[in-house]
Amino acid sequence: MKVLTAVKRVVDYNVKVRVKADQSGVDIGNVKMSMNPFDEIATEAATRLKEAGQATEVVAVSCGVPQCQETLRTALAIGADRGVLVETDAELQPLAVAKLLKAVIDKEQPQLVILGKQAIDDDAGQTGQLLAALLDWPQATFASNIEIGDGSATVTREVDGGLEVITIPLPAIVTTDLRLNEPRYVTLPNIMKAKKKPIDTLKPADLGVDPSPRLKTLKVVEPAARKAGVIVPDVATLVQKLKSEAKVI
Ligand code: AMP
Repeated sequence: MKVLTAVKRVVDYNVKVRVKADQSGVDIGNVKMSMNPFDEIATEAATRLKEAGQATEVVAVSCGVPQCQETLRTALAIGADRGVLVETDAELQPLAVAKLLKAVIDKEQPQLVILGKQAIDDDAGQTGQLLAALLDWPQATFASNIEIGDGSATVTREVDGGLEVITIPLPAIVTTDLRLNEPRYVTLPNIMKAKKKPIDTLKPADLGVDPSPRLKTLKVVEPAARKAGVIVPDVATLVQKLKSEAKVI
C-alpha cells in the first residue's frame, strides 16, 4: 500500500505574527517557517504504517515556493521515502491545493492519503474535504486512530459529541487530529539520511492545473486588544462582581 501525505510550509507555531501596515496580510519576511504541526502527525502516522509493514512506500507532497523543499526534507527525516514539490509562487488557496494534490494522486495512485485537519496559518480546514470531493473518494476527517484492514481503514474521529468510529473502503482520504500520535523527534542521522532521498519537482502547468486564487482577501486586522483586568482584594468581592458586574453566577 502506497501512502501519500500532504505537508504545508507554514509560519512556525511559536511565532507571533504581525499584520502588515497596508492590512494586506501578515508579515512573513524573516520569520521562522516549519512544517504544519498536523502534517507532522500525518507523516508520523504514515511512517508508523510503513514500520508496521502495512505501507510499502510513503510519499510526501508539498505545494508552494521553492523553500517547501525544507518542509519535504523534514518529512523525509521523519520517515517518508520520497518527496514531490509542486513549485509555484502563486498564492495557494485550499481549492488550488486540492486540485494540485488530485493531479499528483492521479499519477501516484496511492491507496491512502493523509492530510492535516487544518493548516495553522490560514486555519481553512478545507483541503482534505475538497480533495475527497474532487477524487470522489471516501473521507475520514479529524482522525485520532487509524487501523488498516483488508482493503479498508477503520478510523476513530474526534467529533463534537465524543468519538465516532467509521470503516471506509480504500483508497481514501484521512485528515489528522492532534491526538492521533506524537511525532518523533527528528534526529541528526535521519536528517543526514533525508538529504539522500529523492525530491521530484513539478510545476502546476505540468499537472494541467491553474492555481490562481479564487478568493480575494479584503483586509487583515489584529484582534481587538483585551481590556485590562482588575485585582480584587478578596473572594467575597470576586463573587459579588461575578454576580453584579459579569452576571455569570
Ligand atoms: P487547510 O485546508 O489549508 O487548513 O489545510 C489542511 C491540510 O491540507 C494541511 O494540513 C495539509 O495537509 C494540506 N495542505 C494545505 N495546503 C498545502 C500545501 N500548500 N502543500 C501541501 N499540503 C497542503
